[in-house]
Amino acid sequence: MTTYNASRRDLAKVIAFMGAAAATPALAQPRAAAPGNIDAAVKAAHAQYKSLNEGKNADYIPALAQVPSHYFGIGLVTPTGASSFVGDIEPKFSIQSISKVFTLALVFQESGQDLVENSIGVDATGQVFNSIVAVEQFRGKEMNPLVNPGAIATTGMVKGSSADEVWRKILGIHSDFAGRQLDVDEVVYKSEADTNQRNRAIGQLMSAYERFPGDPAQATDLYTRQCAIAVNAKDLSIMAGTLANGGRNPVTRKQVIDPRHVPGLLAVMATAGLYDDSGKWLFRTGLPAKSGVGGGLIAVSPGKFGLGTFAPPLDAAGNSVRGQRAIASISNTLGGNPYSVQPV
Ligand code: GLU
Repeated sequence: MTTYNASRRDLAKVIAFMGAAAATPALAQPRAAAPGNIDAAVKAAHAQYKSLNEGKNADYIPALAQVPSHYFGIGLVTPTGASSFVGDIEPKFSIQSISKVFTLALVFQESGQDLVENSIGVDATGQVFNSIVAVEQFRGKEMNPLVNPGAIATTGMVKGSSADEVWRKILGIHSDFAGRQLDVDEVVYKSEADTNQRNRAIGQLMSAYERFPGDPAQATDLYTRQCAIAVNAKDLSIMAGTLANGGRNPVTRKQVIDPRHVPGLLAVMATAGLYDDSGKWLFRTGLPAKSGVGGGLIAVSPGKFGLGTFAPPLDAAGNSVRGQRAIASISNTLGGNPYSVQPV
């Protein structure tokens, strides 16, 4: 039999160690970055990439081709409301696919996460964001809510007895995330509504597979309208900051969605937020993120910060070139990768 012959000094050491462990916040618990550091990191990334002249505006929605390509704005907001805004943070642009995250938040809040997981799925399709083949292949299942078939179905799941009522809720949740009343860019809406035959076909097909209730034409129209919500880089950073802060807006302090829905939202962003480059992006940064073809990009470091950028030229995968570079650089500087922990 072995006996434990601890001396008083050994025992004191053990107790001191246990006390220190209890007093030290767990390493996995994220800490918000210091305000001085964030400003320096955001300014440095803006200066480094402002002249980067790669990529091209989206033009399959004609109005997007007209947006000045040189715009470059970056915003960062922490859970405590500390912020840094640099460059073209005021010009407005259409939110496009980034809206998919916030309409999904509304559906999670209204109907719970199981509805989405069981009806359209949460995996990556392995196909482009507006793939009809993917719908056929999986009969409308295994569609991530952040690619068009899943997103149109998600919009079709928002409860309401009229299109107006559904729309007010969709615009309402976007506004709550941004902390101000948002509105639609009618020029972009019209430009996309005139050319969105493909999305209409996707909506009909998802409806044929009974993936959402109600009228597919209405769901596709409201989806098109939500994509045309006008935001600026500052709005996007506050929206991302709200996700980084467990669903509470760090500026208005309003609890926009239940904190228990945030991990699910971040998970689908990690899976499919940057189209076919989602894996590459996650590998490089570890950050759940979502891009839009209007040139916006959001990224979330849970508990640390939310980032929103605007720079219209896109790479071949459809993601903002300068936005990706800036976010990766800022996050590296601030230690934003949630998978990166100091060994104990
Ligand atoms: N409204 C656009 C579409 O459905 C959004 C695409 C995007 O930003 O990825 O084609």
